[in-house]
Formats: sequence, structure tokens, C-alpha cells
Amino acid sequence: MRLFFVKDFLDLVFPRNCLLCGRSLYDHENNLCSICKGTLPVTSYHLRPTDNDLCDKVKGLSTVGMVMAYLKFTKGGNSQKLLHQLKYRNKPQLAKELGSLYGKILNENGYSKCWDVIVPVPLHPLKQSRRGYNQSEYFGLGLSEALSLKLENSLQRRKFTETQTQKSRLERMFNMDDVFEVSNYSTLSGKSILLVDDVMTTGATLCACANVLLGNGAKNVDLVTIAAGG
Ligand SMILES: [Zn+2]
Repeated sequence: MRLFFVKDFLDLVFPRNCLLCGRSLYDHENNLCSICKGTLPVTSYHLRPTDNDLCDKVKGLSTVGMVMAYLKFTKGGNSQKLLHQLKYRNKPQLAKELGSLYGKILNENGYSKCWDVIVPVPLHPLKQSRRGYNQSEYFGLGLSEALSLKLENSLQRRKFTETQTQKSRLERMFNMDDVFEVSNYSTLSGKSILLVDDVMTTGATLCACANVLLGNGAKNVDLVTIAAGG
């Protein structure tokens, strides 16, 4: 009885609301209400993991295998709102929930034995200390629980790249050279790696990471992000 009282009190002081529609959440809901969860723009990349527009995007940049994203990215859409929450609103548990939701789909579609380890794209340490967490790592943690895989932070950033949005694709690729390096070699040798990030736009960041992994002993690398498209 007392526990219920404490919980009611906490709900009153710190109301839990859906991060998309703002409706107050039921006890069994976390981060998102069931309606918003049920209407997320889920993609079907898992049905064609080696033959889709994301694979076309990374062609020539890296020799990765499968490329998939959980949500379709649209400007002003729910996937962009979720990414914003992850970047600016301190919501690591949301990233983890998105990972477990996608992990469940991947599991149901026979992906559970595809990989040895999950590796997240690292944030620059300054950015990570400002944000408090790496959203790609939390997305990876959700995936790792759902797929019963371990997650290793095998990569690190070498230097800061300034904002790249105004640059051309070629300049961006050039600029990504030497940005990442391996921080833990023992986790890579001969392994099938699932490399995860929050969003895929040009694919330059993911491919730069994949190339470092492949150049340091990884057997193969597949890519999964929370959102992609646009
Ligand atoms: Zn909602």
C-alpha cells in the first residue's frame, strides 16, 4: 500500500508523459504511449537487407553487408522528433527502448545469430560529456538485450570534426578520414559486427567506422540505425 502511495506521489510531482504526443503514460508504458508506439514509421529494410536504397547509399564507400534502419526519417515527422529527444532532452532510456523494439523485429525475422558483437559509433568525448551519454550506445544496448548479443565500445574518435552539414559528400568523406580508431582490438578479430548509429544521412560516418573495423580484423560489418532516409 505504501509503495502505491509513493508511486502516486512521484507521478504527481514528476508526471510521465509520452515523448511524442504528451499524453500521460500508463504504468506499463515507458517513454511512448501504446498508440504512438503502434504508429511509428517502421521500415521494411529487414526484409531486403542487402538490396535497398541504404545499401545504394554506401556503395563505393565501404564493403559492408546488410544495411537497415528501424524508422523512416522524415523532416518534421515522428522519427525526427524522437532523434531530437535523444540528442537534446537527455533520454537514454528512449534510445534503449527503440533498440529493444527493433531488436524484437530482427529477432522475429531470424537475425539473432547473424552477429558476434554490437559496436556503437562513438561520440566525440566533449559531446558525450555535454549530453551525458551516447544515444547510439543506448540504442545498441536495447538491441543487445533483445538479440542476446554483447555490446563493445571498440571504437573511439580521434579528433573533432566541425559541423559538416554545409559540405559536399566528397568533402565529408575526406574529412571523415582518420576520425575513428580502434580502442579495443581483442573484440574485433574475425568477428561479425553489427555497427549501430542513431541516424544515417549520407552514410559517411558509418562507412568511416566500418572501414576502421574491417581494416582491423573484423570479418564483416553490417549497419543498423534508429532512422534513415530523406
Ligand atoms: Zn503518444
